[in-house]
Amino acid sequence: MSSPIDQLKERLYEVNALNAASALMDWDQQCYMPRGAAEARAEQGAVLSKMAHEIFVSDETQAILEKAGSEVDPASEEGALVRVVKRDMDQRTKLPVELVTELSRHGAIGHEVWVEARAESDYSKFQPILEKTVDLTRQVADCLGYTDHPYDPVTDQFEEGATKKYWEDMFDTIRQPLVDLVAEIKASPDQPDDSFLTGSFQEADQRAFSMRLLEAIGFDLTRGRLDTAPHPFCTNFSVNDVRLTTRFKDYLPSAIFGTLHEAGHGMYEQNSPQGWDRTPLAGGVSLGWHESQSRTWENLIGRSKAFWQFFYADLQKTFPGLANKDLETFYRAVNKSEPSLIRVEADEVTYNLHIMVRFEMETGMLDGSIPVKDVPAVWNQKYEEYLGITPPDDARGCLQDVHWSGGLLGYFPTYSMGNILSYQVWNAMAQDLGDLHEMMSAGNFQPILDWLVAKVYSQGNRHLPQDLIRQVCGTGLDATPYITAIREKYREIYRLN
Ligand code: ZN
Repeated sequence: MSSPIDQLKERLYEVNALNAASALMDWDQQCYMPRGAAEARAEQGAVLSKMAHEIFVSDETQAILEKAGSEVDPASEEGALVRVVKRDMDQRTKLPVELVTELSRHGAIGHEVWVEARAESDYSKFQPILEKTVDLTRQVADCLGYTDHPYDPVTDQFEEGATKKYWEDMFDTIRQPLVDLVAEIKASPDQPDDSFLTGSFQEADQRAFSMRLLEAIGFDLTRGRLDTAPHPFCTNFSVNDVRLTTRFKDYLPSAIFGTLHEAGHGMYEQNSPQGWDRTPLAGGVSLGWHESQSRTWENLIGRSKAFWQFFYADLQKTFPGLANKDLETFYRAVNKSEPSLIRVEADEVTYNLHIMVRFEMETGMLDGSIPVKDVPAVWNQKYEEYLGITPPDDARGCLQDVHWSGGLLGYFPTYSMGNILSYQVWNAMAQDLGDLHEMMSAGNFQPILDWLVAKVYSQGNRHLPQDLIRQVCGTGLDATPYITAIREKYREIYRLN
């Protein structure tokens, strides 16, 4: 008879196999599936999810988990596995099946209505969906339980340990510095020209260059792939099968930075310990941590001057149209910052202001201080306040994001946490490794990847997210490194002083 912990692992492998099959079907749906297959695929996915759920929450699994929990040392790897599974079990068993089914049905319908409402820029169409999203989310909060604010258990699902207060403290430290920096940048007479980044760039060339980037930074192509999808994402079915997607458009940075961003997520997944594969200990520890790594490879590395000191000659050779643009012009162009209406296109300076608007709206909707009918007006007022612009219509305002249509509240702040944390981790790395820019300008990314693997990626999901921050950075979440670094970077780019 095998030990309870081995029995637990056997169960988890079964759940993982079903989840991996669902994820593979989802990857296929976004990359290759013919549109006509949508309905059958949705039904098939629902069957697999139900099977995985039933195995996971079965009395048998719960009994095994209980037994394993009483036998393992909480400080061991196995103790960590039990803790992670218990948390998941707890959340899943607290939510009644009817509510989970209702949420998933609402997500499917909500998505359809949102697509239409956005296309017609008609908020009145979307309002009932959003009202229901808020109502169902309140029910989720009640089932999970909370003491201070309904947002607390909701956001904790995505970032363990985070609360409304935690996010408020985070935003309080960046709000004014960012609003001030945006104003300084806007007033600069020396605006970079990035018009040359839009044009006709051969898809095959974009693909070849993207592949060279992946190889150079250390994404393992024997255990991963790059494909294309309309909205780039990264998924994986095991530590040894990580799928990245990117897109090839007229705007050249789209492929380059999309690829680097997803590769950051991908390398985090690829470098979990092999022994943890197919268990919940493998993979990133939280959404905020995951995003910190995609941002590291996209922004701190990919948008640095040092990176392009190494790659720019190759880029110019691949796209001869860039021949008459020097490195400095290119570097300034890919770092152009300006207040814009659309979050997903926002730069490093303005991005977190977009997130702050959404966070304030979400908490307000949940506690009733922002009535759902007032969302467009409040949204526009906040955009004016933080970014100095007012959306001309709701399609480019409160209807732009997919999240609320699918019932996802509490998710947005993890993007900002990722931006902030990426700079904190970077500083810790620089203390250990010395001059990171010198390494990057020589195309030497191995020490950087090795350090991230040792400190972060190899830890998988073993620690609590906030404990890992303290372990790697020596302090809690702290926005000072982010604010200091982007101030310095953008003052140079915009020639302010
Ligand atoms: Zn990401």
